[in-house]
Amino acid sequence: SGTLNVTELGELLGKPANDIIKKLMFAGVMANKNQDLDEDTIELIAGEYGMAVKKEVEVEKTDLTQYIEIDDEKDLKERPPVVTIMGHVDHGKTTLLDSIRNTRVTAGEAGGITQHIGAYQIRTDAGKKITFLDTPGHAAFTSMRSRGAQVTDIAILVVAADDGVMPQTVEAINHAKAAEVPIIVAVNKMDKEAANPDRVMQELTEYELISEDWGGDTIFVPMSALQGEGIEELLEMILLVAEVEELKANANRRANGTVIEAELDKGRGAVASLLVQNGTLRVGDPIVVGNTFGRVRAMVNDLGKRIKKAGPSTPVEITGLSNVPQAGDRFVVFEDEKTARQIGELRQQKQLEERRGEQSKVSLEDLFEKI
Ligand code: GDP
Ligand code: MG
Repeated sequence: SGTLNVTELGELLGKPANDIIKKLMFAGVMANKNQDLDEDTIELIAGEYGMAVKKEVEVEKTDLTQYIEIDDEKDLKERPPVVTIMGHVDHGKTTLLDSIRNTRVTAGEAGGITQHIGAYQIRTDAGKKITFLDTPGHAAFTSMRSRGAQVTDIAILVVAADDGVMPQTVEAINHAKAAEVPIIVAVNKMDKEAANPDRVMQELTEYELISEDWGGDTIFVPMSALQGEGIEELLEMILLVAEVEELKANANRRANGTVIEAELDKGRGAVASLLVQNGTLRVGDPIVVGNTFGRVRAMVNDLGKRIKKAGPSTPVEITGLSNVPQAGDRFVVFEDEKTARQIGELRQQKQLEERRGEQSKVSLEDLFEKI
């Protein structure tokens, strides 16, 4: 799409601007040479010269979101929250992620060896699941959001109680707010002599994160990620916020979701970690992922265990794609492989055209075809 003015349209059609202006007049549109024309008008004038605007249909076909059916409210069930841990460097993000994982992931999973797939899922004592993205910090927000993806339901803002609000703390707040994601503050390193949680609370009031004790509605959890203190309470608070947010999905449909990370593996080819956001992903599913496609050949979970299906909010690693997608790319499962291939190839082609289009100016043949 994009607009053309009268002169530009004339150039593309090989007609003087005055001719175009006359045609427009007959069509009841008064225009000058510099007038921008909308798509319908361009189509109309092109038609007068025996041309049709092409490509729009194909371009539209490549938009993956249109293939995602909207769920009936009655089919939606509670799903686990997807949590991102953010905060200033050295405030304890990695320690917290490890600490949560170590206490939880292997519980009841005999011999489970954690596998890095960019996210993991835990099960709390109450039997509720929580998914953590373990690309800590802003990566999850910046790279993904720049691609229009939103995977995080809840942000945990880690602030070291002995250091207080720092530049990346503020950055994290801004990311979470821009994404309209609720924030839980983990006041970390409470075991330290110099810990001053009141100062953290005070400093955060400036960013409208006001604790419940002070009349606000932000949850603050004092903790020591290093010593494993406060983790239990943090998990409880995550579930509380999740309940308020009413996070739902429909497991009984074809899956869609987002790429968390992807790489080329020497032995296995393209490997992608996916977060299933809706539906159930199954081995054998025909799938379009970003500008690539394929069939889910093998699927493993965050414990490195081979699985056959994965429901909403589950992170998995898959093989079977023709190319390596990018973090933040959307994926959609299709009913049959032929459609997935067609749409995948169209998207590939469009990506190539976009790269080329940046160099060369659009030509008549690119825009119009004879009718
Ligand atoms: P990140 O940069 O936010 O991922 O921070 P790390 O998790 O790497 O932690 C930075 C340093 O702080 C490491 O030396 C940790 O051992 C230490 N640390 C993290 N959490 C705590 C805590 O609760 N108490 C104490 N005393 N040290 C901590
Ligand atoms: Mg770290």
